[in-house]
Amino acid sequence: MGDSQMRDPLEVADQLLSQYPLCDQCLGRQFAWLSTGTSNRERGRSIKLLLSMKADELLKSGERESGVRLLTNLAGNGMFEPARILASKNGIEHDTVEKCYLCFVNGESIFDRIPAIVGRIVEETRDIEFDTFLVGCTPIPSVAEREDELRARHGLLRGEPLRGDLNRELGKQAQRALGREANFERPELVIVYDMALDSLNLQINPLFVYGCYRKLVRGIPQSRWDCTACRGKGCESCGGTGRRYPDSVSEYVGIPVQTAANGSRFKFHAAGREDIDALMLGGGRPFVVEISEPRIRSLDLDTVTQTINQQAAGKVEVSDLQYTEREYAQRLKHEASHNIKEYLALIRVDEIPTDEALREAETGLSGVEINQRTPTRVSHRRRDLVRKKWVYEVQLTSTDNGLIQGTFKVQGGTYVKELISGDNGRTTPSLSEILHSGCVCVELTVLSIHGPETDHNA
Ligand SMILES: [Zn+2]
Ligand SMILES: [Zn+2]
Repeated sequence: MGDSQMRDPLEVADQLLSQYPLCDQCLGRQFAWLSTGTSNRERGRSIKLLLSMKADELLKSGERESGVRLLTNLAGNGMFEPARILASKNGIEHDTVEKCYLCFVNGESIFDRIPAIVGRIVEETRDIEFDTFLVGCTPIPSVAEREDELRARHGLLRGEPLRGDLNRELGKQAQRALGREANFERPELVIVYDMALDSLNLQINPLFVYGCYRKLVRGIPQSRWDCTACRGKGCESCGGTGRRYPDSVSEYVGIPVQTAANGSRFKFHAAGREDIDALMLGGGRPFVVEISEPRIRSLDLDTVTQTINQQAAGKVEVSDLQYTEREYAQRLKHEASHNIKEYLALIRVDEIPTDEALREAETGLSGVEINQRTPTRVSHRRRDLVRKKWVYEVQLTSTDNGLIQGTFKVQGGTYVKELISGDNGRTTPSLSEILHSGCVCVELTVLSIHGPETDHNA
């Protein structure tokens, strides 16, 4: 599609320079989409050189008036050294402008500031480990508007914004100075230069570490649990600790990773959670630790594993630590409800059932879909709705001390305690319902979690 009539770049440039002082970079940028394999500065300089040659030709062929007009523009608004020499040779006077109309900010060209900015980038990133980065700038609105107006007034359609021009120049020079690659997709470090404030802002992107945890003792919540009375400030009922539970799985795992990465914070994402009083055994539960502002990215994950397992000895244990990406942390939760989980439960029953009743219960609860309304005990933090969950297999045996031991193979997200008790009819069918007797889970252990897929990087 032809979007405009053809315009000779030399004529356009001549017209521009008769009205505005423009440095090579800014003149060239107005033609940024014309030709390739060069730079805007080179474009601007080439145009000015050709115009100077034209002016010389005009002078030499006796068209003095046109020649003088063109040459004074180039020597003045064009700030072009060859034109200045030519003018003085021909005894032609001109203005000496030194301020480009488009790129002058606080007394200098923003493009001339680049080496100093890059020097500061090198200095300020010295203690940060990163392989890839992206550099950009926050433009000054009034400066951008001035260029937009100029383009509208002259119908220029082949230019690029100053911001893009500056970003690229900054990127090129920073890449050279840092000896590292610019990366637009997934930079580890984002550097933003604020043109108005002449300041740098560094954003270190998070680090994600995947692993599996086992919880070997009961009574530890997955995440930090603040005292509900004082909300973490510390009060009498929590003995000033501000906490309802002294420790948590997320802290046992997250703090050593954060320390190793010299980060500022951590977030713990897990594929579901077991109850505080439940054990998590088998191969463990998949999680991702997200470290904010890590200054170290190449962790020795074996050492980190050892540190965690020593500090949390006998309580929490991790394995299989490896690097992963943000997408996987987001997928963990979603996948959790497609996992298959195996539980071991100790159950107290009001009336001890016969073996026959147990077989009946096994049949009634194996390979069935249950309706489970949000349990009363979690209704304060989960939406009240009825979830359909699949129960794959249930096996029940009586123990010597009058309890029942059950293994439950269920879809992720099933509340097993309620599958046992029935939760006053909110979960149906349930063990209690089938046995016609009150059932309570007194001890719960997660034996294993089988993911829908095993490669977390897939
Ligand atoms: Zn300029
Ligand atoms: Zn408290």
